[in-house]
Amino acid sequence: MKRVLFGRLPGILYVLCFYFVLANSVNAQTVPFRYALIPENPRPGEPVTVAVSAGSNARSAVLMMGGQRLTRAAFFFVPADGEAQSFMTAVLAVPATTRPGRAQINIESAAGIIGEIVLHIAEREFVSETIDLNETLSSIRADPDPQKTAESEYLWAILTRTGVDIYSFGTFSPPVTSTRRTSFFGDRRVFRYANGRTDTSIHAGVDYGVPKGTPVSACASGKVVLARFRIVTGNSVIIEHLPGVYSLYYHLDKIDVAEGVMVSAGTILGLSGATGLATGPHLHWEIRVSGENADPDAFISRPVLDKDAILGKISN
Ligand SMILES: [Zn+2]
Repeated sequence: MKRVLFGRLPGILYVLCFYFVLANSVNAQTVPFRYALIPENPRPGEPVTVAVSAGSNARSAVLMMGGQRLTRAAFFFVPADGEAQSFMTAVLAVPATTRPGRAQINIESAAGIIGEIVLHIAEREFVSETIDLNETLSSIRADPDPQKTAESEYLWAILTRTGVDIYSFGTFSPPVTSTRRTSFFGDRRVFRYANGRTDTSIHAGVDYGVPKGTPVSACASGKVVLARFRIVTGNSVIIEHLPGVYSLYYHLDKIDVAEGVMVSAGTILGLSGATGLATGPHLHWEIRVSGENADPDAFISRPVLDKDAILGKISN
């Protein structure tokens, strides 16, 4: 199988390199193959959009570093008015633990790797914090519980599902009007239990320090795929926006939407609270991309499915 690698090249070389060679495994003929990669130097936590022409047989995009698979996302079809304007795209999230440096995205068909794109992960610093948990919260977090296990398996099955429906093309809006944040995406956390033992984790979303009863709204249009109580996250709502892209709202005092309904950006999902594992009233807002935690701020600052930008790159 023939492959061509691309690195960081300036100006005209870059344009020339938007072609990579797709090997036809049956008769060894090669077909010119174009792609778009946005952004080209993502930071840990950032979503990365990979797009290829609609005629390709791309099935999944796999982010690799140092020979290790970091994350994978399935391609989905994005229709457009003209046949030539349609494309296939996959949205990945660079894991928050990724080191800066050279990485690679493998484009895979059912038969194997059909293209490789080299990219560079930019450096990013995260804050550290220690959280003291009382006995009740220590128990919620640390005690084994079959119900908790069942809930996390159910959640994982939702978050790793890649549908076909595109509900939102635009940027996301913050779910509350308050800008007061008590925790940030990617915070390195140490939980100190009531018995003195500790455990570490990485904060998966953004915490807004809003009082109990604050209206929480959908960040973009989509379909409610979960609206129920969970032991760790309390009253929880999950919305599907794009194939593999979900927003999550935790610790609500009250849920005002039902599973299966469609919502628009700004639709009230419920009221904030402190249910589940919460040391005080706040809204935990999280975005998942093919199961991986992604930085919600990246979705506020730009659309992950910017048709014009993607088509501009594929056709140039
Ligand atoms: Zn949180």
